Amino acid sequence: MTELMKAMQLDAPGNPLRPVERALPEPGAGEMLIRVSACGVCRTDLHVVDGDIRGKLPIVPGHEIVGRVVAMGEKVAGFAPGDRVGVPWLGHTCGICAYCCSGRENLCDDPLFTGFTRDGGFASHVVADAAYCFPIPERFSDVEAAPLLCAGLIGYRALRMAGDARRIGFYGFGAAAHILAQLAVWRGREILAFTRPGDSEGQAFARSLGCMWAGASGDSPPGELDAAIIFAPVGALVPEALRNVRKGGRVVCAGIHMSDIPAFPYEHLWGERTILSVANLTRADGVEFLALAAQAPIATTTTRFALEDANEALAALREGKLEGAAVLVP
Ligand SMILES: [Zn+2]
Ligand SMILES: [Zn+2]
Repeated sequence: MTELMKAMQLDAPGNPLRPVERALPEPGAGEMLIRVSACGVCRTDLHVVDGDIRGKLPIVPGHEIVGRVVAMGEKVAGFAPGDRVGVPWLGHTCGICAYCCSGRENLCDDPLFTGFTRDGGFASHVVADAAYCFPIPERFSDVEAAPLLCAGLIGYRALRMAGDARRIGFYGFGAAAHILAQLAVWRGREILAFTRPGDSEGQAFARSLGCMWAGASGDSPPGELDAAIIFAPVGALVPEALRNVRKGGRVVCAGIHMSDIPAFPYEHLWGERTILSVANLTRADGVEFLALAAQAPIATTTTRFALEDANEALAALREGKLEGAAVLVP
């Protein structure tokens, strides 16, 4: 009798995810078959489902995977059956392009992304390239650890792009910001949180995690920012953040997709302000961030959903109803 796995599959953008059963896949050379114990729901999953970004179809979304190794193909080093592992967004790189050869595999010309161009973790099982998997710090449970794999990790890359900025504005206080705020405050930074107007619960949540100030986008913060990180997929926040950033400051766009950025007067960019985006992650980012997460007093706030309720989890994220991160449990 063939063993089966369960998955929530996207057949076409705009459709709800559909529960499917498939034969359990065999891991190829360098790959591991992993039994999923938790998978976070990221805004990028929403962009995949809504068709804002286009990858492989049909696809099983999900790239914040925590699970245990069930079987391994040939040539897997560093893991053993039973090990707890994390599978991130970066699923594979070519290893030979100019970006891979210069320490910027996040920009690889021929990559695979988990839950976008290879099947992801909205499933009971997933096959992953072992070279892109990470061990998970012990102090987190499976559900607690899931949001670290993208919200935490790519958020960390965005925080690093903010340089040595001391006062940083976070625009959008969702899964990524709630993790990064705790890390940044622990490292002596001052974090100012900008939420959707009227989201007083989100602002209270931000203050409870150590943010020195929380208000609505459109509010004037008390004093200038050294940098801003935009987590929300809203292009109008770019000129707004620029206005609040001091001379020489940076505005970092942390998402994979954003609505159009409205025109703004050049004087808001003048003064050596910069705007940049953060794309994907390198394995070095993952190792560095997870080592920090093992030490820093980071607690992730999560809402659990059953795997079959993935569409409800996506809807809650779209409507801004979640505090912290949604996590699917098969
Ligand atoms: Zn490459
Ligand atoms: Zn993500």
